[in-house]
Amino acid sequence: MRIILLGPPGVGKGTQAKLLSRDLAVPHISTGDLLRGAAAAGTKIGLEAKSIMDAGRLVPDEVMVGIVREALSDATAAHGFILDGFPRTLPQARSLEGIFAGLGIMAYRVVNLEVEDEEIVQRLGNRIICRNDGKIFNAGLDGVTLSSPCPACGGPLFQRADDQAETVRERLRVYHRTTQPLIDFYDQKGILLTVDGMNSIDVVNREIRLLLTDAQDA
Ligand code: AMP
Repeated sequence: MRIILLGPPGVGKGTQAKLLSRDLAVPHISTGDLLRGAAAAGTKIGLEAKSIMDAGRLVPDEVMVGIVREALSDATAAHGFILDGFPRTLPQARSLEGIFAGLGIMAYRVVNLEVEDEEIVQRLGNRIICRNDGKIFNAGLDGVTLSSPCPACGGPLFQRADDQAETVRERLRVYHRTTQPLIDFYDQKGILLTVDGMNSIDVVNREIRLLLTDAQDA
């Protein structure tokens, strides 16, 4: 199954992508993770992307299209994938059509997760991540702080530089201006499924699975 996850930063795309990837046995392709990996590895693209990411802005389309073309062309993505964080602009969405055509991909679904802006500022401000196993915690709900060890593996915890309140607001501005138009783009193609992301992780996951099953039957 080929799925694109759409929605603002902090809506839960990464969390849902991991669950879908596990349940459907297809790779989770997160452009944010690929960029952070490239930055950590010190590659030219990664280092250039890092300052853009830390400011909450978007990495240029041509860079992103190259990264995604490579990821989707990999043999591991031949039978499906969960694409998380791409496309984020109309030119990216149009380029993706071209990539799909080149790979002979005819059918895919777009899942749009919706959450209000204020909830996102709250969620991301409280998001704490384990450097060791990548697990995500909520400082308010899970009772962890940046100085406590990861409750799961004991590893060190950190906050993403772009999760600071001001940067989150900039990411939301960028989302509304540049990414939100993609909702109409995919709706007009008749492949958009919209899910309320305010519910719990399990409920959102169940709704996505239900909608995907219904869409397959249609
Ligand atoms: P994410 O982990 O999806 O929130 O992405 C983190 C950051 O990576 C974004 O704020 C952007 O700076 C950059 N990024 C990820 N995906 C894209 C994309 N498709 N287009 C442009 N920039 C991206």
